[in-house]
Amino acid sequence: MPGGEGREIPEMERKKMRTELVKEICRRLEEVGIRPTHQRIEVMKYLTENRVHPTAEMIYSQLKAVIPTFSKTTVYNTLKLLEEKGVVSALATDEDQIRYEVDLTPHAHFKCVKCGAFFDLGHAGVLSLEKEDEIEGNLVREVQVVMKGICRHCRAERVN
Ligand SMILES: [Zn+2]
Ligand SMILES: [Zn+2]
Repeated sequence: MPGGEGREIPEMERKKMRTELVKEICRRLEEVGIRPTHQRIEVMKYLTENRVHPTAEMIYSQLKAVIPTFSKTTVYNTLKLLEEKGVVSALATDEDQIRYEVDLTPHAHFKCVKCGAFFDLGHAGVLSLEKEDEIEGNLVREVQVVMKGICRHCRAERVN
Protein backbone atom coordinates (compact mmCIF):
# COMPACT_ATOMS: atom_id res chain seq x y z
CA MET A 1 0.00 0.00 0.00
CA PRO A 2 2.01 2.98 -1.20
CA GLY A 3 2.01 6.13 0.86
CA GLY A 4 0.14 4.45 3.67
CA GLU A 5 2.72 5.18 6.34
CA GLY A 6 3.79 8.42 7.98
CA ARG A 7 1.84 11.23 9.54
CA GLU A 8 1.38 13.19 6.35
CA ILE A 9 -2.17 12.85 5.05
CA PRO A 10 -1.95 11.77 1.40
CA GLU A 11 -3.28 14.22 -1.17
CA MET A 12 -6.05 11.83 -2.21
CA GLU A 13 -7.19 11.44 1.35
CA ARG A 14 -7.11 15.20 1.84
CA LYS A 15 -9.23 15.72 -1.27
CA LYS A 16 -11.71 13.19 0.03
CA MET A 17 -11.90 14.97 3.37
CA ARG A 18 -12.58 18.27 1.60
CA THR A 19 -15.30 16.66 -0.50
CA GLU A 20 -16.85 15.26 2.67
CA LEU A 21 -16.68 18.70 4.26
CA VAL A 22 -18.36 20.36 1.27
CA LYS A 23 -21.10 17.72 1.35
CA GLU A 24 -21.60 18.32 5.05
CA ILE A 25 -21.73 22.10 4.52
CA CYS A 26 -24.29 21.76 1.70
CA ARG A 27 -26.41 19.51 3.87
CA ARG A 28 -26.21 22.00 6.75
CA LEU A 29 -27.14 24.97 4.53
CA GLU A 30 -30.03 23.19 2.86
CA GLU A 31 -31.31 22.11 6.24
CA VAL A 32 -31.91 25.76 7.18
CA GLY A 33 -33.16 26.76 3.72
CA ILE A 34 -30.02 28.38 2.34
CA ARG A 35 -29.11 27.63 -1.26
CA PRO A 36 -25.52 26.37 -1.17
CA THR A 37 -23.79 28.65 -3.65
CA HIS A 38 -20.07 28.40 -4.34
CA GLN A 39 -19.31 31.53 -2.31
CA ARG A 40 -21.42 30.51 0.67
CA ILE A 41 -19.69 27.14 0.71
CA GLU A 42 -16.29 28.84 0.59
CA VAL A 43 -17.13 31.05 3.56
CA MET A 44 -18.36 28.06 5.56
CA LYS A 45 -15.31 26.04 4.57
CA TYR A 46 -13.02 28.83 5.69
CA LEU A 47 -14.77 29.12 9.06
CA THR A 48 -14.70 25.37 9.57
CA GLU A 49 -11.01 25.02 8.73
CA ASN A 50 -9.83 28.18 10.49
CA ARG A 51 -11.04 28.23 14.06
CA VAL A 52 -9.55 31.63 14.78
CA HIS A 53 -12.78 33.65 15.18
CA PRO A 54 -12.02 35.75 12.11
CA THR A 55 -13.71 39.04 11.31
CA ALA A 56 -15.51 39.59 7.99
CA GLU A 57 -12.50 41.59 6.86
CA MET A 58 -10.12 38.71 7.60
CA ILE A 59 -12.37 36.22 5.82
CA TYR A 60 -12.62 38.53 2.84
CA SER A 61 -8.89 39.10 2.45
CA GLN A 62 -8.14 35.38 2.79
CA LEU A 63 -10.78 34.27 0.29
CA LYS A 64 -10.02 37.08 -2.11
CA ALA A 65 -6.49 35.74 -2.46
CA VAL A 66 -7.83 32.36 -3.58
CA ILE A 67 -10.96 33.47 -5.44
CA PRO A 68 -10.36 36.89 -7.05
CA THR A 69 -14.03 37.34 -7.95
CA PHE A 70 -15.04 37.44 -4.28
CA SER A 71 -16.52 40.79 -3.32
CA LYS A 72 -16.60 42.34 0.11
CA THR A 73 -20.36 42.76 -0.11
CA THR A 74 -20.80 39.07 -0.83
CA VAL A 75 -18.79 38.13 2.24
CA TYR A 76 -20.74 40.52 4.48
CA ASN A 77 -24.12 39.44 3.10
CA THR A 78 -23.20 35.78 3.36
CA LEU A 79 -22.13 36.11 6.99
CA LYS A 80 -25.29 38.01 7.82
CA LEU A 81 -27.43 35.31 6.26
CA LEU A 82 -25.53 32.49 7.96
CA GLU A 83 -25.91 34.22 11.29
CA GLU A 84 -29.63 34.87 10.80
CA LYS A 85 -30.17 31.20 10.04
CA GLY A 86 -28.17 30.18 13.06
CA VAL A 87 -25.43 28.39 11.13
CA VAL A 88 -22.64 30.57 12.43
CA SER A 89 -22.23 32.46 15.63
CA ALA A 90 -21.33 36.15 15.55
CA LEU A 91 -19.44 37.59 18.48
CA ALA A 92 -19.48 41.30 19.04
CA THR A 93 -16.21 42.52 20.44
CA ASP A 94 -15.46 45.92 21.82
CA GLU A 95 -13.53 47.30 18.83
CA ASP A 96 -16.77 47.33 16.87
CA GLN A 97 -15.64 44.17 15.21
CA ILE A 98 -17.67 41.08 14.74
CA ARG A 99 -15.93 37.76 14.86
CA TYR A 100 -17.47 34.64 13.37
CA GLU A 101 -17.30 30.95 14.18
CA VAL A 102 -19.05 27.72 13.30
CA ASP A 103 -18.78 26.19 16.75
CA LEU A 104 -22.30 26.59 18.13
CA THR A 105 -21.73 24.71 21.37
CA PRO A 106 -21.79 27.00 24.40
CA HIS A 107 -18.27 28.09 25.22
CA ALA A 108 -16.57 31.12 26.66
CA HIS A 109 -13.93 33.29 25.05
CA PHE A 110 -10.88 34.97 26.37
CA LYS A 111 -9.50 38.16 24.98
CA CYS A 112 -6.02 39.35 25.80
CA VAL A 113 -5.98 43.11 26.24
CA LYS A 114 -2.25 43.19 25.55
CA CYS A 115 -1.68 41.18 22.37
CA GLY A 116 -5.28 41.03 21.17
CA ALA A 117 -5.39 37.23 21.10
CA PHE A 118 -8.94 35.92 21.09
CA PHE A 119 -9.55 32.27 21.80
CA ASP A 120 -11.92 29.62 23.18
CA LEU A 121 -11.74 28.86 26.84
CA GLY A 122 -13.77 25.69 26.72
CA HIS A 123 -16.94 25.08 28.63
CA ALA A 124 -17.15 27.23 31.70
CA GLY A 125 -19.50 27.07 34.63
CA VAL A 126 -20.86 30.51 33.74
CA LEU A 127 -22.57 29.01 30.71
CA SER A 128 -25.39 27.24 32.45
CA LEU A 129 -28.07 28.70 30.20
CA GLU A 130 -29.26 26.40 27.46
CA LYS A 131 -30.19 27.36 23.96
CA GLU A 132 -33.96 27.90 23.72
CA ASP A 133 -34.20 28.86 27.37
CA GLU A 134 -36.75 31.52 28.01
CA ILE A 135 -36.22 34.52 30.25
CA GLU A 136 -39.20 36.74 30.97
CA GLY A 137 -40.77 35.62 27.72
CA ASN A 138 -37.62 36.26 25.68
CA LEU A 139 -36.16 33.35 23.82
CA VAL A 140 -32.44 32.89 24.31
CA ARG A 141 -30.66 31.74 21.18
CA GLU A 142 -27.16 31.92 22.46
CA VAL A 143 -25.13 33.11 25.40
CA GLN A 144 -21.86 34.93 24.89
CA VAL A 145 -19.21 35.23 27.51
CA VAL A 146 -16.02 37.12 26.75
CA MET A 147 -13.47 37.26 29.51
CA LYS A 148 -10.74 39.83 29.24
CA GLY A 149 -7.32 39.89 30.75
CA ILE A 150 -3.70 39.05 30.10
CA CYS A 151 -3.14 35.79 28.27
CA ARG A 152 -0.65 33.25 29.56
CA HIS A 153 1.89 34.09 26.84
CA CYS A 154 1.90 37.78 27.69
CA ARG A 155 2.14 36.94 31.37
CA ALA A 156 5.15 34.75 30.74
CA GLU A 157 6.83 37.55 28.79
CA ARG A 158 6.34 40.01 31.57
CA VAL A 159 8.15 37.77 34.04
CA ASN A 160 11.25 37.49 31.83
ZN1 LIG B 1 -1.58 38.21 25.15
ZN1 LIG C 1 -15.26 30.29 20.03
